[in-house]
Amino acid sequence: MSRRTPSFATASPADPGAAPVASLPGVGPALQQALQRLGLERVQDLWFHLPLRYEDRTRITPIRDLRVGDHAQVEGVVEAVERGFRYRPQLRVAIADDSHATLTLRFFHFNRAQAEQFAPGARMRCFGEVRHGAHGPEMVHPEYRRVLGTTPLPTEERLTPVYPTTEGLGQKRLGGVIARALERLPEEAALELIPDALRAPLRLASLREALLTVHAPPPQADVAAFARGRHPAQQRLAFEELLTHHLGLKRLRAQVRRHAAPVLRGDGALRAALRAQLPFALTAAQQRVTAEIEHDLARPEPMLRLVQGDVGSGKTVVAALAALAAIEAGCQVALAAPTELLAEQHWRTFDSWLRPLGLAPVWLSGRVLGRARTAALAAVADGAPVVIGTHALMQEGVVFHRLGLAIIDEQHRFGVHQRLALRDKGRSGDSVPHQLVLTATPIPRTLAMAAYADLDVSVIDELPPGRTPVQTVAIANARRGEVIERIRAACAEGRQAYWVCTLIEESEQLEAQAAEVAFAELTTALPELRIGLVHGRLKPKEKQAAMDAFKAGETRLLVATTVIEVGVDVPNASLMIIENAERLGLAQLHQLRGRVGRGSAASSCVLLYQQPLSQLARARLEVMRETSDGFRIAEKDLELRGPGELLGTRQTGQLAFRVADLARDAHLLPAVQRVGEALLRDHPELAERLIARWIGGAARYAGA
Ligand code: ADP
Ligand code: MG
Repeated sequence: MSRRTPSFATASPADPGAAPVASLPGVGPALQQALQRLGLERVQDLWFHLPLRYEDRTRITPIRDLRVGDHAQVEGVVEAVERGFRYRPQLRVAIADDSHATLTLRFFHFNRAQAEQFAPGARMRCFGEVRHGAHGPEMVHPEYRRVLGTTPLPTEERLTPVYPTTEGLGQKRLGGVIARALERLPEEAALELIPDALRAPLRLASLREALLTVHAPPPQADVAAFARGRHPAQQRLAFEELLTHHLGLKRLRAQVRRHAAPVLRGDGALRAALRAQLPFALTAAQQRVTAEIEHDLARPEPMLRLVQGDVGSGKTVVAALAALAAIEAGCQVALAAPTELLAEQHWRTFDSWLRPLGLAPVWLSGRVLGRARTAALAAVADGAPVVIGTHALMQEGVVFHRLGLAIIDEQHRFGVHQRLALRDKGRSGDSVPHQLVLTATPIPRTLAMAAYADLDVSVIDELPPGRTPVQTVAIANARRGEVIERIRAACAEGRQAYWVCTLIEESEQLEAQAAEVAFAELTTALPELRIGLVHGRLKPKEKQAAMDAFKAGETRLLVATTVIEVGVDVPNASLMIIENAERLGLAQLHQLRGRVGRGSAASSCVLLYQQPLSQLARARLEVMRETSDGFRIAEKDLELRGPGELLGTRQTGQLAFRVADLARDAHLLPAVQRVGEALLRDHPELAERLIARWIGGAARYAGA
C-alpha cells in the first residue's frame, strides 16, 4: 500500500517524534525500508507501534505443568530424535526435564545443522506454544537454544513484547529500534494531546508512562492484567486509540457527505427479470433492506451503507439487486471480496443470475495474468457492467469507465482505506460512487457506532425459510476417535464433512502446519475416504482445486484452516468438526458453523475441545450449543469476553486496532464519544494531530 510520506519540515528539538526513523542510531537504508513496510516512518510511529502480545520468558515451566494453548519456556534434555518422512520431512525430538515429563518438538522445515543440534543428551531451552500431540504435549517449530556446559542461561527479567512485524525484520531488531526511539520520548506536557479539562475526569494514566510501560513491562508487572489488556497503561492507550478512530471516521463521514454521487434511478426492468428468475421469494427483511438501498442510490449524494446479516441470511441477492439498479441507470458495478475463494464464489453466483440477463460479469483477481488480464482490464475500461474480484480491483491499472456502485463483502477483512481505494476508482470530478458493504459479523448496536461510525446500517434480521438448524455438541478431544467414526458414518451416507483446524496466532504458517498434521492423522484413520486439504499457504490454484474437488463431491472430507470461514457454500456438507474450539471467540465459531446447515440434510457441528476448559471457554461452548442466533451470540460474546482472553490471543477478523479491543473496551466508548465531540468542536487542530499520530499517513484520510 502506498502512503504519502509525511513532511519532516516540522522535525525540531521541540518535536522529536516528527523526525524520520533514519535519524535514530543504527537505522540504515535496509532497516528503514523494512520499517516503512510496516508504515513506520517517523520516530513517533515507533512509539505507537504497540506489542501484539507478550511472551513470558521470565521463568521456566516444568514440562509436567504445561497446558495446551500456553506459550511457555521449558528446559530439558534430548531423549530421542526421530527423522522421518511421512507425507513430508519431519523432525521429532523428545525432551524431558526434572518433572519427569516429556515434550515433543516437531519441525517440518529444518536443515542438517539444525537437526544435528538435537543430539541425545543435549540440554535445550525452548519457547513455543503448547499443543496437544499424539504422545502428550508438543511444540511445533519452537524457538530453541542449546544450553552448553553447566552455566545456566539467564531468564529474562521482563515480559517480552511481540510486535507486529514483516518478513525480514526480526523481533529483536524491531524491539531494539523501538527502544532507541523511546529514549527520545519527550516530557508528558509535550506528548499529551487530550486537554486536561477533558482528560482529568477520566483518571487516565499518563501517556508517557503508558508508552514506556507497554513496551517494557516492569518486572513486577501484573502479568495477568497485561495478558488481558486490562493494565492501566494499556487502557490509557486503548482510550486514545478508540478516540482517534472515532475522530477519523467522523471526519471521513463529513468529507464523504460533501461529495456528489450519480443518481441511480433505473426503470426496474433488470431487477424484475432477476426476481422472476429466482427460485425463491425474498424474505421481508431482504425486501426492506433492498428498498433502503434503492432509496439511497436514487439520491445525489453517496450512499455509505452497511448491510449486516447473519450467515446465510441472503445478502448476496440483495447485493445483486443493488447492482442491477445501478446498471439500469447506466453505471458500472464492482464487487470485491477479501479472499479469492469468496470472490470466485460470488462471481459464479452472479454469473448464473446475470448471464441470462445478458450481463456476464468480468472476473479479476491477482491470478488473472497475461492476456486474460489485459482483456479483463480492457473490458472494465470499456464499461463492462459488473466486475467481480479480490483486492486486485483496488489496484493501480484498473480503470473503470463509469463506476457507480462499489460493493464490498465481509468488510472487516478490508480496511477503510481499501474501501476508499475502490471508491476512488469511480471518482469523476466531485462525484464518487455509492458504496455498499456486506458483513456477516453481527455487531451489537453499541459497538456498531464505534466500528462503523461512517456508515448507515441495514440489518437482515431474518433467515430464509426451510433452513435446518445445526445441532451443536461439544466433545472433549480425548474422544477424538468417536468423532472420527462419526465422519466415517456421515460420509458413508453420502454426506460430506469439514474438519477445521484453528490456531489464533500471528502466523498463518503455524495454522497451515496444524492442518497438515490433522490431514496426515485423518488420512491414516480414514483410509477409505478421499480427503482434501486447504489452507492459506497453498497456491491459489491448489486452493481452488481443493475447493472444487470438495464442491464436486470428489473429496468427502475437507481439512481446512479458518480460510473457509467466510462465504464458502457447499450444501451437501452437513458435518463440521472444529478443533480447539475452546480457543475461538464466539463470533468466529458462529461464522465457521454457518458453513453447514445450508442444505436440506440435518446438520451437526462438533466443537472439539482440549481439557481442562477455562470457565470462559466453557461458557462460550455453552452459548454455541444453545443458540444459532448471530445477534444473541454477539451480545453474549460481549458479555463474556473482557474477563478472560488467553495470553496473546486476539480475535482475528476484528478491526485492526493496535491495543484497543472493541468488546473488552466497550466501557470506554461513551467517554470516547463525549471527548471526541468536544475535541472536534473546540480543538479541531488537536484532533488532526491525534489522527496523524495514530493513523500515521493522515494524508490517507485527506482525500476522502
Ligand atoms: P449470506 O448472507 O451468508 O451471504 P447467501 O447470500 O450466500 O447468504 O445466501 C445463502 C443461501 O440462501 C444461498 O444459497 C441463497 O441462494 C439462499 N437464499 C437467499 N435468499 C433466499 C430466500 N429469500 N429464500 C430462500 N433461499 C434464499
Ligand atoms: Mg455471503
